[in-house]
Amino acid sequence: MVGQRIALLGIGRHDIIGTPGNLRARRGTGSSTHADGALRRALLHGATVSSLVRHGKQMAIVADDGRVLVVHLGMSGRLVTADNRDREVPPHTHARWSIGSARELRFTDPRRFGALVPCAGDTELQSHWAGLGPDAMDISAEQLGHALASRRTPVKVALLDQQTVAGLGNIYVDETLHRAGIHPLMRSTRASTYAEAIWTSMRGILEAAIAAGGSTLRDYVDGSGNPGAYATLHRVYGRSGKQCHQCGTHIRSMVVGGRTTAFCPGCQGRVRPAL
Ligand SMILES: [Zn+2]
Repeated sequence: MVGQRIALLGIGRHDIIGTPGNLRARRGTGSSTHADGALRRALLHGATVSSLVRHGKQMAIVADDGRVLVVHLGMSGRLVTADNRDREVPPHTHARWSIGSARELRFTDPRRFGALVPCAGDTELQSHWAGLGPDAMDISAEQLGHALASRRTPVKVALLDQQTVAGLGNIYVDETLHRAGIHPLMRSTRASTYAEAIWTSMRGILEAAIAAGGSTLRDYVDGSGNPGAYATLHRVYGRSGKQCHQCGTHIRSMVVGGRTTAFCPGCQGRVRPAL
C-alpha cells in the first residue's frame, strides 16, 4: 500500500467510525451529504499512503498529507487487500478503498467491536494512543518490571491491561505465563520480581506467533486473507483438560478478571522463574 494512492469506494455503516480517544462515540447512520464530504476526506479518500504504523493491537494508515486513519480490529475485524476484479465482496464489509488501479482494501467486521478512527494528524494520533503502554515488541524487561510492580491486580489482569504493555491479548498472556512458570493469580507486584522471565517468554511467543502468521482463533486472517498457524503451537490456551506437553499435568481453566484463563497447575503451581 505504501506509495499508492487510495480512494474510498464506499462506507457500508457509519457506526464503525469512532472519534479519537473515544471509540464508543460512534457516528450515527444518518449523515448529511455535507458531512459525507468531510467524512470521505477523514477516511483518506484521495490520499497517498506514506506509512503503516502499529502500536499494540492498533494500527494506522498514514497519508503523505498528514491525515491518519487508525484501524481497530476488535474481536472479529479484518483488513484485507484483494484484487479488484474479485467482485465477491464479503458480507459485513463496512468500508472499501481502491489501492492504485488493480487492488482494493476492505474492512470487514461481523461483530463490530472494531472501528475506524480518523485523526487529523500525528499529534491527534499520539493523543489517541496516549492511554497505551509501551508496545510489547519495544518494552524492555526493566520497563515491564516497573509496570508490573505498580499493579495490585493478579499478574494475568495486569498483563491484559494495555496500559501495562500494549499488544498482549488473552491467548498470549496465558501462553507467556505458562512458559515463564508463573501462576496467573500471582500478585503483579510479586510477579514483577520475575519480569526478566516473563519478558523473555513474551518475546519468544510473540516472535514465534508473528513468524507463524498469527493465531487463528475463530475469525483471524492476515492482510492477504490467510489464516494464521500459531494456534497449533498453543501450550495452554484452548487445551483445558488435555495434558501439558511439558509436565503431563492436566491443563485447567478458570476465570480471572472476567477472562477464561488456561494454566498448568504443574508448571505454574509453584513460583518457578526458570524457563
Ligand atoms: Zn505443565
